Amino acid sequence: VVSLRDVHKRFGQVEVLRGVTLDIAAGEVVAVIGRSGSGKSTALRCINRLEVIQSGTIEVCGHAVHDPALDLRVLRQDVGMVFQSYNLFPHLTVAENITLAPRRVKRTPRAEARSLAEEALARVGLSDKIDAYPEQLSGGQQQRVAIARSLAMHPKVMLFDEVTSALDPHLTGEVLKVMEGLARGGMTMIVVTHEMGFARRVADRVIFMHTGLVWETGPGQMLAAPQTPELKDFLAADL
Ligand code: ATP
Ligand code: MG
Repeated sequence: VVSLRDVHKRFGQVEVLRGVTLDIAAGEVVAVIGRSGSGKSTALRCINRLEVIQSGTIEVCGHAVHDPALDLRVLRQDVGMVFQSYNLFPHLTVAENITLAPRRVKRTPRAEARSLAEEALARVGLSDKIDAYPEQLSGGQQQRVAIARSLAMHPKVMLFDEVTSALDPHLTGEVLKVMEGLARGGMTMIVVTHEMGFARRVADRVIFMHTGLVWETGPGQMLAAPQTPELKDFLAADL
């Protein structure tokens, strides 16, 4: 459902993606790892057309993302994205945060939107927080609300960019557990993460990016037996 062919992305003179080719099947969970600056976030942002690429092709759920004429609203109904900073609106309740997009983008009626929120919150284990305000929640809970907000749009693919990096270690676990649940439930997921345990245990495939390229890719076990010196160094530095 996600397919990148020889994708090049430049910021000014700097080529950040130097020919990324990648295929992800429906239901597959892919962990993307790599050093700071290797192009992980940029790759995710290109998939969701938050960035425009210079050459190559990107297809997501049948949408030609590289096509300038693509309707972004149509693309983003199929692709959910969760960032490191959860960006909840502080003056809106959890329910209102979750239903904002369905109500505005999909014109979902209020009552139906409420049940969407209930359903999404159940999936992240926060049913009891539906009427709370973000400031009343822990960082981990806020991030789970951000995931629920994405789920409420019923995306076909979900992109996660270091969603646990801003969290204390004891809050990281609860967010990873939610993501693991989604993965087991068949969601197609691309997860940029520093959590090697998650990559090893949950991902069907790990992609190691280095200098704007897919440098090494394989099942989680590849982390136990890196083939390239670059991945070896990366893993050694991470411990
Ligand atoms: P990190 O692990 O630190 O999040 P990353 O692998 O996600 O790193 P990217 O954010 O994709 O890396 O950045 C790749 C390179 O592109 C970096 O050198 C960065 O400085 C550059 N870059 C990213 N966004 C922009 C931008 N909007 N304008 C200019 N350069 C950018
Ligand atoms: Mg990044």
